[in-house]
Amino acid sequence: MKRDYYEVLGLGKDASADDIKKAYRKLARQYHPDVNKEADAEQKFKEVKDAYDVLSDDQKRAQYDRFGHQDPNQGFGGGFDASGMGGFGDIFDMFFGGGGRRANPNAPRRGADLEYAINIDFLDAVFGKERDIEIQREVECDTCHGSGAKPGTKVETCSRCNGSGQEEVQANTPFGRVVNRRVCSVCHGKGKQIKEKCTTCRGTGRNKVKRTIHINIPAGVDDGQQMRITGEGEAGVNGGPAGDVYVMFRVRKHDFFERDGNDIYCEMPINFAQAALGDEIEVPTVDGRVKLKIPAGTQTNTFFRLRGKGVPHLRGNGRGDQHVKVKVVTPTKLTDRQKELLRELGGLEDGAPLHEQPEENFFDKIKRKLRGE
Ligand SMILES: [Zn+2]
Ligand SMILES: [Zn+2]
Repeated sequence: MKRDYYEVLGLGKDASADDIKKAYRKLARQYHPDVNKEADAEQKFKEVKDAYDVLSDDQKRAQYDRFGHQDPNQGFGGGFDASGMGGFGDIFDMFFGGGGRRANPNAPRRGADLEYAINIDFLDAVFGKERDIEIQREVECDTCHGSGAKPGTKVETCSRCNGSGQEEVQANTPFGRVVNRRVCSVCHGKGKQIKEKCTTCRGTGRNKVKRTIHINIPAGVDDGQQMRITGEGEAGVNGGPAGDVYVMFRVRKHDFFERDGNDIYCEMPINFAQAALGDEIEVPTVDGRVKLKIPAGTQTNTFFRLRGKGVPHLRGNGRGDQHVKVKVVTPTKLTDRQKELLRELGGLEDGAPLHEQPEENFFDKIKRKLRGE
């Protein structure tokens, strides 16, 4: 059963707005969960707050007087909202003189960081590259040098707060008269008043500008890695330092090379004769073509390692390796002469059919092995 709101506040139906406010303050102080450690304090505090929320609002009070708790149009006593008037913050401001917790609005503040993602080519990620990127950021207005005032006009000290950015408000509390401090309602804490606004920045003191910054893409950078460019972010406020720019690299795929960390993988087709008899083939690497010896009797899917032909280590020296997987390609178009030779060869086989290795996940297995897993 919900108690009558007037009863909760200990008032009659003819209570004035002032009576309601006074009763609420007294009871809120008494049952505030931070002050009152009794088990039902929070429940009582909520009850008091609900009653106050309704009775302090002329319209809600009139509805309540007519319909009581039964009014179908009102969600009486619903939430426990500390954000509006009468919430915890206000109560504590009211009783204990709030305002001290607010940061000084004139203190220097660092500008915001900016994030950019750029696409780079596979080979640029391997070897690094210089590049210009365009960023948009907020900087101090050139016209007014950040003051927000039209050049030639003066920025005046706020007459309400005398430049402190805070104003004092007196309030009556159960402890007597208390002086609260809060952010100045005229200058919103800046301590200054602008009579005529700068037309370039409309009084904000800041403008959005495009700027080109030169970056060095480091050799060895990998997809998803970030680089920080100090001091190129948004301008600071009140003389604070500028933020940073974070550039994230998105590395494009390559038609021939595949990258895994600092190692590069590729696949080279060879024919049956090369696999059986051995050969020397040319393999593309990121440094250009190199020769690779294929030993006689090489099976399909065999890996060969080209040391130092991988990606440079981002920090420190050295490079990864290139791993070349050879694929033995079975010919599909044969001349009569070739067919004859193969038939002859088949007859020489010592019974067992040429057995192919299963290919599923083989590439992945090898990669794991090479990583020592
Ligand atoms: Zn300006
Ligand atoms: Zn002011």
